Amino acid sequence: MTDTLYLDNNATTRVAPEVREAILPFLGERYGNPSSPHHFGGSIEADLTLARNRLASLVGCSPKEIFFTSGGTESDNLAIRGILASHPDRRHIVTTQVEHSAVLVQCRELEKQGFRVTYLPVDSDGGLKIADLEEAIDEETALVSIMWANNETGVIFPIEEISRVCREREVPLHVDGVQAVGKIPVNLANTSIDLMAISGHKFHAPKGVGAIYIRSGFKIKPLFWGGNQERGRRPGTEPVPFIVGLGKAAQLAEECLDHEFDRIRVLRDELEKGFLKKIPEVWVNGGGQPRLPNTLSACFEGVEGEALLMLMDQNGIAASSGSACLSHRLEPSHVLLAMGVPEEIAKGAVRLGLSRYTENEEIERVLEVMPGLVEKARRLSKRMERG
Ligand SMILES: *Cc1c(COP(=O)(O)O)cnc(C)c1O
Repeated sequence: MTDTLYLDNNATTRVAPEVREAILPFLGERYGNPSSPHHFGGSIEADLTLARNRLASLVGCSPKEIFFTSGGTESDNLAIRGILASHPDRRHIVTTQVEHSAVLVQCRELEKQGFRVTYLPVDSDGGLKIADLEEAIDEETALVSIMWANNETGVIFPIEEISRVCREREVPLHVDGVQAVGKIPVNLANTSIDLMAISGHKFHAPKGVGAIYIRSGFKIKPLFWGGNQERGRRPGTEPVPFIVGLGKAAQLAEECLDHEFDRIRVLRDELEKGFLKKIPEVWVNGGGQPRLPNTLSACFEGVEGEALLMLMDQNGIAASSGSACLSHRLEPSHVLLAMGVPEEIAKGAVRLGLSRYTENEEIERVLEVMPGLVEKARRLSKRMERG
């Protein structure tokens, strides 16, 4: 495996070299605590401010509305539980069947604690019906939590329309924006989203750092209690190196967004067209919906996805069967099942996630080797059935 080809960028991304450079001084002599009154601390405060400004600029909000956290999972938890704690009389949550486990597993846990949860269905293309949302909201609804873009299929939900409905019905809206930020233009100024989760490692910052957007004036209870860092929304001494890295990654993403968006989409489309042309019995998931430009989810009929991924891995191609958080289990993806994909076909799912580091030649190589690998995986799976 000399040159491994990484096509699992919805699971995580490499740290950009510029991000690593930006972090290094903070692992060396710039170790001050931003809360300290002496000069070691004071200068660090300015670096946090710069990072906050850069992230705010990427998502189109005020820096005052950005609060740093440990990542997407924490931000999703802070948003949902923070709203519930602020409205103890409201015991109903509206979300979708295709959320990331940071929302879905949390909601299942909340059900055990007596909350009522409505999981909105999606159609066979992964699309959401606004009428279903309108119908689900009632007087008891504490919040709506809906992802901007799906981590498995890349399907983009109509967030502006969703936020309009939530505002009309005066229900808080939390958006899991983890897959959208850095991949598509996100402009919070155009929406009435109240809260949004952001994760650094999905756009070339390190793992373990992210943020939550909290609309100015919107009140939520924190998850943690302690000092006044992040104005009390997220106490605990700030992971300065990671926050600096997140800020740098946000700046790079904003600079790259315009031209990379099209370049990556062209590569993804080539991959998709190539699969459909060269390999029999392939299904593309969510192909009829607006999608992230970097994501291709495909099902290969008669294939065990895990077996195909292993063959791909042996040939230097890293991809995934869907959500990495759940992929230790051999169960088909909850997203594909919600789309009505038959279990047997959902088992043959492979997700490819490109990044701005993905090159033309890499896509060509995938298209060269995939037909053979799928054929081999199909033979293996037939043999297993017989055996
Ligand atoms: C990765 C991901 C998360 C979790 O973010 P972490 O920073 O890894 O905790 C949440 N939601 C979506 C849609 C994701 O893709």
